[in-house]
Amino acid sequence: MHDLIIENASIIDGLGGPARHGDLAVTGGRIAAVGRDLGDAHERVDAQGRVLTPGIIDLHTHFDAQLTWDPYATPSTGLGVTTVVIGNCGFTIAPCRAADRDLTLRNLTHVEGMSLEALRAGVDWRFETYPEYLDALERKGMVPNVASFCGHSSVRTYVLGKDAAKRAATKQEVAEMKRLVSEAMQAGACGFATSTLEQHNGENGIPMPSRLADEHELLELTGALGQAGKGVFMLTKGMTTTVPWLEKVAANNGRPVMIAAMFIDPNDPQRVFREFGEIEQARERGRELWGQVGCFALGMEFTIAHPYPLEAFLAWRPAIEAEGSEAFRKVLADPSFRAGLKAEAKTAGVPNRFSYHQFAHMRIKDVVKAVNRGLIGKTVGELATGAGRDPFDWLLDFALDGEMDAMFDCVMFNADEANVRHLLRHRHAAIALSDAGAHLSFLCDAGFGLHLFGHWVRERGDLTLEQAVQAVTSRAADAVRIKDRGRLIPGAFADLLLFDPKTVGRGPKRRVNDLPSGASRMDTAALGVAGVWVNGVRTVGEAGVLPACGRPGQLLRDFSD
Ligand SMILES: [Zn+2]
Repeated sequence: MHDLIIENASIIDGLGGPARHGDLAVTGGRIAAVGRDLGDAHERVDAQGRVLTPGIIDLHTHFDAQLTWDPYATPSTGLGVTTVVIGNCGFTIAPCRAADRDLTLRNLTHVEGMSLEALRAGVDWRFETYPEYLDALERKGMVPNVASFCGHSSVRTYVLGKDAAKRAATKQEVAEMKRLVSEAMQAGACGFATSTLEQHNGENGIPMPSRLADEHELLELTGALGQAGKGVFMLTKGMTTTVPWLEKVAANNGRPVMIAAMFIDPNDPQRVFREFGEIEQARERGRELWGQVGCFALGMEFTIAHPYPLEAFLAWRPAIEAEGSEAFRKVLADPSFRAGLKAEAKTAGVPNRFSYHQFAHMRIKDVVKAVNRGLIGKTVGELATGAGRDPFDWLLDFALDGEMDAMFDCVMFNADEANVRHLLRHRHAAIALSDAGAHLSFLCDAGFGLHLFGHWVRERGDLTLEQAVQAVTSRAADAVRIKDRGRLIPGAFADLLLFDPKTVGRGPKRRVNDLPSGASRMDTAALGVAGVWVNGVRTVGEAGVLPACGRPGQLLRDFSD
């Protein structure tokens, strides 16, 4: 007697095989059989007209903090995700000494756009070391499965304290960091993650600690993976860590490298393709490099009072450092500040940063003053051109004239879908980059898998449904060495997603206020999802997330080589 049979489904196995009509049986949390006439079951679900696939694996999330108060990893569970990978970019919360907790949260607030009030109210600090963090998550339990990277910035802060964001490490400090990475690997981390991206700044525009690492430190810490014979090196790449340099890392430790974030940057649309060319060459030499790509136009909502994309400019620094709103206004009005900003925005070669190109995709979403209502929906680019002004001057004067809290919606990257489709179809691309759990105040791409199926498969026809499913299930699992998931074959864990292919997708963005302390976040609804199961337990029903589903997710600690 099986626990569950889902019958009459169009079954897509996640391995690239064609959809087949049939039934799937689950026993003891695993897939028992796929086919026809599978016998008796305690529960039967009729899936006529629907597609049954493995649950979506989200490789790029930042749920490290949120999972300590929200076992659902909201909103990912409702969006068809059954496994989340946390610790990306190395922005983790363990190891962490009690004295460094607030600094860690303030940095997260800045670099990943999380509400400081929500983090302070929400994080359950029942751990200090990385192994204790994993144990604490496991004790608490969670709805999706969780795989966790060991994060560079936390390791660095643990060893260097306040100097972590200031200087290179000594030999002894590097050795101690390496010991911590090895300890994390032994405890069950899926790899080591860092960021070398120039725009990744913590509080007051101070670089995130990992950005201070020199080549020796990076080679030593990634070397810990080689010694463990396990684990993936994940990084969000800056200018110094070129693909050829990353190939050197892979040659050194013999481990896969997961490279984020591979966007189409309007300032240099061919760069990402040059880099994929380098990845292909590295593959030919036997190095397993992956380019992590997104299936969204990366849009952000922000105000000039909290202008995340503009804070990437060095020339914006005086505005970050200004204390109080009068000082801030003075900086924005200063002609030499503006001259610096314009000059920096025109310099070529800086990857994935705001440039003049973005003004054409920067729309006014909401205004403070009634007299400006007519501007809603217009772009800063067209308004500046109409006024015969430089867009920065137009924008900053607009803000200074009572619109500091006007909301802009700006497509930063991946605006050009005709080019994005080539990324999505690349065989060395990992489709992820949802950043779920982060940037809550201005984006929500946690529904990337549903969007892939609805938009890129059904609406645009750039991928078959089988290809799209494979990309976000078995290929994602294999890239991070997750065992027995992401595929519908007997013996695999029963992580399942059931949906209507005619309507699957993600709904429009909306703002909700459900974070600890009542802070707001962006959210999107799931469209067409009829059910989600994690380890054989149903977590999402026809009407959405099941509040009494328990905590069937596993903390994944045992990864393949
Ligand atoms: Zn990230």
